[in-house]
Amino acid sequence: MHSDFLIIGAGIVGLTIAHELRKKYPSSQIAILEKESDVAYHSSGRNSGVLHSGVYYSQDSLKAKFVVQGNKLMRAFCQDKGISINETKKLILCSHESELPELFKLVEKSKLNGVEHELITSKEVAAIEPLAKTVEHALFSPTTANIDPLKVCLALKEDLISKGITFYFETAFLSAKENVIITKDGRQFTSSMVINCAGLYADKIAHNYGIGKHLYIIPFKGIYLKIKDDDFKLRTNLYPVPNPAWPFLGVHFTVDAYNNVKIGPTAIPAFWRENYSGFKQFKLDEAIRILGLEAKLFLKNSFNFRDLAIEEMKKFNRSFFLNEAFKLVNKKPTNPKYEWLRPGIRAQLIDLRTNELVNDFLVERGPNSIHVLNAVSPAFTCGFAFAEWIVEQFVESSLKKL
Ligand SMILES: Cc1cc2nc3c(=O)[nH]c(=O)nc-3n(C[C@H](O)[C@H](O)[C@H](O)COP(=O)(O)OP(=O)(O)OC[C@H]3O[C@@H](n4cnc5c(N)ncnc54)[C@H](O)[C@@H]3O)c2cc1C
Repeated sequence: MHSDFLIIGAGIVGLTIAHELRKKYPSSQIAILEKESDVAYHSSGRNSGVLHSGVYYSQDSLKAKFVVQGNKLMRAFCQDKGISINETKKLILCSHESELPELFKLVEKSKLNGVEHELITSKEVAAIEPLAKTVEHALFSPTTANIDPLKVCLALKEDLISKGITFYFETAFLSAKENVIITKDGRQFTSSMVINCAGLYADKIAHNYGIGKHLYIIPFKGIYLKIKDDDFKLRTNLYPVPNPAWPFLGVHFTVDAYNNVKIGPTAIPAFWRENYSGFKQFKLDEAIRILGLEAKLFLKNSFNFRDLAIEEMKKFNRSFFLNEAFKLVNKKPTNPKYEWLRPGIRAQLIDLRTNELVNDFLVERGPNSIHVLNAVSPAFTCGFAFAEWIVEQFVESSLKKL
């Protein structure tokens, strides 16, 4: 089976790249290999569904470069496909006055990144979200919104099929030799260009092409708790000021596309890549490698991994998890029902030469292949804008050389 472009992975990154390729090359043959039976089985269908605004990212990062435009393009796609957008907005709140300097840094970053924002007082916070609590100031983000990420991916699939793109589901990449890909079920695919968008397995596939051998993905599990309580209804996403020493955003409240209130996600180190629950998808060789790496990071406390791991593990305890979140509100639910939701797993890249986290998106190129590595949050929001850039910077320039 031959195609001009062969994409591995039907998450948001693979789907938006296919969408962009179809726009740029209307008569090309495009195929997508996906190991699961449908799109968005992993991060893209298990995330918070927040369309981020871009307040956190350093100005020179790819995340900052794509998030504002990505938010706009994702909104346009949703409007075009009739997918509802919950205009939830967002507040970043201080639990203690010591957090104010970090809040002011986020204000500066927002200015530099061209992100709509307002530094507001605690009185103004009450008008936006009566349940929210802050010390002196908060950062208000009016362009943050929530969508149903699975609906977006399913709509993309339908759109791509209608435009002649072929999906091969239950077709897992196994290995590559020159430009021949062999799948787990023994089929062979050839392509002029392979685009690896395999999320949690993107590093392994890149290694097959001799790319990024010093990079390795460590999985971090994000668990969510849904709160049902008629007296505890939020209309805005509430986030803490993030701890600058840690790579993730801290426990927060999100209001999803259907107005459900959720706490989470956590960022608990997982022991294998698809370590969602029990021993499903357990792979011994993978677990040995990841546990070994995590043990090393723990001992060296690289990027504060030890402190992070201890703090995050505590969140398996529901009371601890809830109390972290309740720091952001002035009232606790009175008669709540709690429900653990489907977890998601972040595919976080580590540079094995330094034992440090890779913070930004990373795209590497081989002779006839492109590898999207570290498509961590906010890659869902960035999807369409990131895909435009990948096609422009990597695909077009490679084709010119041919
Ligand atoms: C808990 C959590 C919350 C998040 N919240 C947000 C948020 O609110 N907003 C936001 O913008 N971002 C968020 N993110 C980040 C966002 O979800 C991801 O950045 C994004 O979904 C990554 O998309 P992807 O296509 O790279 O990966 P994936 O969605 O994981 O897709 C990769 C695909 O590759 C397939 N695949 C893997 N190996 C193979 C193989 N060998 N052969 C064939 N196919 C293969 C997989 O089955 C999968 O379908 C969150 C992430 C997590 C984990």
